[in-house]
Amino acid sequence: MIVDVAINKPLWKTLDYEVNENIECSVGSIVEVPFRNSTELGLVLGIKKKSSGQYSLKKINKIIEVSFLNKEQLQLLNFMSSYYCCPHGITATLFYSKNFFRESLKKIYGYQITASLNNLNSEIKTKKKKIIEIFQQKKKLSHEDYKKFTNYEKKIINDLLKEGYLKKVIIEDVNDSLENNNNIVKDIELNLDQRNAFECVMKDKNSFKTFLLYGPTGSGKTEVYIAIAKQLNQADKQVLIMVPEINLTPQLEENLKNRFDRKHVCVYHSGVSNSEKKKNYDNIKSGKIKTIIGTRSSLFLSFKSLGAIIVDEEHDDSYKQNDGCRYSARDIAFYICKQKKIPLVLGSATPSIETYFKYLNNNISILNLPKRDLTKSSKILIEQNIENFDSLYKNKIKKLFKEKKNIIFYVNRRGFNPLILCNSCKSTINCKKCSVSLTFHKTGNFLLCHQCNSKSIIPKNCDLCMSKDLVGIGDGTQKIEDELLKSFASEKIVRFDSDEIKNPSKLKFTLDKINNLHGGIIIGTQMVSKGHNFPKIALVLILGSDNALFSSDYRATEKLMQELFQVAGRAGRELNFDSEVIIRTKYPSNEIFKHLINSDYSKFLENTLQERKSLNYPPFSSHVLLRALSKNRKDNFDFLSQALKFAELYKSKDIKIYDIVPCVIEKINGKYRHQLLFQFERKTLMVGFLNKLVEKLNNCKTKSTWYLDVDPKNLN
Ligand code: ADP
Ligand code: ZN
Ligand code: ZN
Repeated sequence: MIVDVAINKPLWKTLDYEVNENIECSVGSIVEVPFRNSTELGLVLGIKKKSSGQYSLKKINKIIEVSFLNKEQLQLLNFMSSYYCCPHGITATLFYSKNFFRESLKKIYGYQITASLNNLNSEIKTKKKKIIEIFQQKKKLSHEDYKKFTNYEKKIINDLLKEGYLKKVIIEDVNDSLENNNNIVKDIELNLDQRNAFECVMKDKNSFKTFLLYGPTGSGKTEVYIAIAKQLNQADKQVLIMVPEINLTPQLEENLKNRFDRKHVCVYHSGVSNSEKKKNYDNIKSGKIKTIIGTRSSLFLSFKSLGAIIVDEEHDDSYKQNDGCRYSARDIAFYICKQKKIPLVLGSATPSIETYFKYLNNNISILNLPKRDLTKSSKILIEQNIENFDSLYKNKIKKLFKEKKNIIFYVNRRGFNPLILCNSCKSTINCKKCSVSLTFHKTGNFLLCHQCNSKSIIPKNCDLCMSKDLVGIGDGTQKIEDELLKSFASEKIVRFDSDEIKNPSKLKFTLDKINNLHGGIIIGTQMVSKGHNFPKIALVLILGSDNALFSSDYRATEKLMQELFQVAGRAGRELNFDSEVIIRTKYPSNEIFKHLINSDYSKFLENTLQERKSLNYPPFSSHVLLRALSKNRKDNFDFLSQALKFAELYKSKDIKIYDIVPCVIEKINGKYRHQLLFQFERKTLMVGFLNKLVEKLNNCKTKSTWYLDVDPKNLN
């Protein structure tokens, strides 16, 4: 018997291998095969009697797992491979991980408490005491959960083990450690709008229908998700609740976990250890786990009986994968729900243009959740940018501090100065490997490239003219922090950006600090707009969002508006007090700020759709980028010129091809980047065209590496 195997290599062909007749092997099985001088895992995509090749075939080494992928998953794999023009072998790796099949995964290590409260040494340090208290409550924790519940410090756990307070144990079941923590938080009674939304979805629970749960942050969307999941779980149906980046939203994870029987819920994302992932995978396949909170990758689980998919913050760009198979998780959720004939619920305060467009075309039902009456709307002001602002706001801040209220400074750039300028020749200091300027980071005192992450020391002279007159330009989060520290105590100021928050435990630490702010300032990048519940925010100050207004990427204003609406939504959430949002801009009369002042996101969407329509941009057409990367421009140019020639050959009048251009960031990490943009009137045209094109491109001799990005989210 011959099997067709897709292996995890960028090969556009599947490979034939031989299998002995008496061995059980089916389509969807995972096998280990010899490849070149090593062995690889592969997925069986077909079985046949004869190979078309001439030469003798290699035999597979062994079958790792028979029928690992089911029929529906194989169908999805084929769809993705063809729609996103990505080799089967690469697409297949979304469905399994090499690590799943390692023997060592069978055991999950954890810790168990040994000492009781009585014999707790009174001299024990508070940090350790805190951890012991956690264990007194939970008794047993897997290593993963331990990291989640504490500000993980390796030394402390080692000490506690040495001192005999804890012992190392093997945990049989992922949820074992949580057995003693089953105090399920009682359900909240849904209000009228929530009930209506819930009932609308449940009415169609046995058919494919898409809903947009449209409501500002805090309007109670999560409660609707929970109600849907609970009802479906009771009918033995699984529910997948998708979130854009679980590492950024531990609050949501905790909230959800506290609402379900912990044995029946799990989180599934790349931050979970392999062994825990595999256990969860198995428990989802067997149906033991009923509610899954997951990121993109959870779409490729093997569900026993999926009853609905919920996509929270559906507009978030993190749902788009940026390497390998560049899929949109929201769109794949759509595919899966259609395939399984189950409802899809998209939730957002700031829905994407695509989703709104589908609603206008009657393909989506809108379920509105108005702001709850508890929260007052905040006053939104647009102010002309004036260079020096500290005196302007100092009094305001002092007043709010007295009232124990908090403030958000939203600054869309991390670091201290985004530019270092030579005052005499006006050149900027740029990264040697990327076509971007270096950002000055005061914390650590270095220059950092935000594209390739390379660090360098601050030069004494300008590279070009040797002048010593170098100055930092522009305000990043560190600069704003620095300014504020001149007037306010450091305990009152929290910086919330990816330099400060490098891992989940640092996030937990920072969120704890924020929750204990009674009159303080949170300075953050777009990270603050992502689902966090900050308490008592009376003022949101938005600084430096102007560059997005003039981006060459037509999506930039949509992203900016989503961010601004989300950040503005952090103000005055849970208390009945007046709150303010102030946007500082050089262009206060820009059209898009009007929608913000009127709190009318839908109006913004409608205007933007008009604009897109006049340009025939998505969602009125489909875009596909062909990107080429190489150490020199000519390779890219030659390759894309060939591609252009082929494309012209297959082109029909419904396909528009733009010029070959360098990407906005022309060079990243030593590689030049160029692109060719295709625009299709109809999707049906697109797939056929691209697959023909790819076949040609595969035979091109080129030094450039290249990829296709279907429905790109980022044109830069
Ligand atoms: P969203 O997901 O839209 O941001 P949540 O569902 O998290 O909103 O709700 C925000 C807050 O309001 C939560 O603290 C939640 O417990 C509370 N809440 C939601 N619905 C209700 C309700 N029907 N009655 C009382 N409180 C509610
Ligand atoms: Zn100079
Ligand atoms: Zn760089």
